[in-house]
Amino acid sequence: MNAHANIGRFPERQTFVSHLECSLTGKVYAADTIHGLSEAGRPLLVRYDLDAAGKVFDRAALRDRPRDLWRYRELLPVRRADNIISLGEQETPIIALPTTGRRIGVAELMVKDEGRLPTGSFKARGLVMALSMAKELGIRQVAMPTNGNAGAAAAAYASRAGIEAIIFCPDDTPEINVREIAAQGARVYRVNGLIDECGALVAAGAKANGWFDLSTLKEPYRIEGKKTMGLELAEQFDWCLPDAIFYPTGGGTGLIGMWKAFDELEQLGFIGPERPKMFAVQADGCAPIVKAFDAGERHAERWEGAHTIASGIRVPKAVGDFLILDAVRASGGRAVAVSDDAIIAAVDRVGREEGLLLCPEGGATVAAAEAALRAGDVQPHDRILLFNCATGLKYPMPDRSGRIDLQGAIDYASL
Ligand SMILES: *Cc1c(COP(=O)(O)O)cnc(C)c1O
Repeated sequence: MNAHANIGRFPERQTFVSHLECSLTGKVYAADTIHGLSEAGRPLLVRYDLDAAGKVFDRAALRDRPRDLWRYRELLPVRRADNIISLGEQETPIIALPTTGRRIGVAELMVKDEGRLPTGSFKARGLVMALSMAKELGIRQVAMPTNGNAGAAAAAYASRAGIEAIIFCPDDTPEINVREIAAQGARVYRVNGLIDECGALVAAGAKANGWFDLSTLKEPYRIEGKKTMGLELAEQFDWCLPDAIFYPTGGGTGLIGMWKAFDELEQLGFIGPERPKMFAVQADGCAPIVKAFDAGERHAERWEGAHTIASGIRVPKAVGDFLILDAVRASGGRAVAVSDDAIIAAVDRVGREEGLLLCPEGGATVAAAEAALRAGDVQPHDRILLFNCATGLKYPMPDRSGRIDLQGAIDYASL
């Protein structure tokens, strides 16, 4: 018996992938074979026969399915149920932040807490899909550059799939990430460079050793996994999307994926043409998308000397830059950068005000929402959804403990 009820229940043919398509040129590629980037060097997008899917899949079909990401199986790429590797990708909760909302002046401030997923981050959504597809396509070895969480999820799901994983991290990647990658069965290397330089190692190793390159957006299926954030939140909001979404943006997979999800849901008739304003949140020390947004460019230049404590968004160059920028612009949102000080302050305040420990990237979305409100880009009555992408427990915390000396007298009144 399959531990996850959603997995076993779909006959083989209940998936509807028709083909893949270059996100820049629209050139068509065949499904069911191994792909990296398109010939134009850009991400491939998975396309579905949504008319056929719509005949067997409607909002009512979801009612009785277990609450994990496989409930959207008809809109996911894995053909054969026995290729689905899973560690329990449960629906993540949307948590109201009433106290923080009051302080910054919005009536409805909410956070989708992705820290509850396997390996403690939303990278699980993308990587469970990428590795399930790698298994389906017969791939034996994968390699990827990572700032931490992606490598951890890749390691876990690769081990689960019986696939070898080789992972390269910048040497200032959070220690816990480097160690959990190895603990979950991958070979991990610290590199004295940034994530794109780790990516160059993967590309060279792929040529030399035949590794499959799992870098962000360089294979087609991570977007499909991240797309489930959009499907899930649409369903959680009862098919009436929030007014604004603040998404901490590194490679942008999640923002691109959610935008794709909304389009597919509209084509299926689950939602109308309304869209949330999408805010791509970056850090002052690494804000290539913000710079391109402000300059009116469709592509972003590499950000030199990238630095921020929010390692998940320390991505100097994103291969899907134009997909992020197109979505943000089409939505009427913005790309915004916040300082590390604002990030630290936001994590600290939300932890104390709400009892919810955010990761730094999640803290960045709080700071960005505050700034957007001040700038008039969102309104006090808007329903604002933030993303907390990883559990705050993975990050160093300041020590604010007091000390008790059992050898001395204890002044209980002062405790
Ligand atoms: C990867 C990551 C991000 C950025 O996500 P993308 O979809 O790649 O832009 C943000 N926060 C955390 C914690 C991450 O691990």
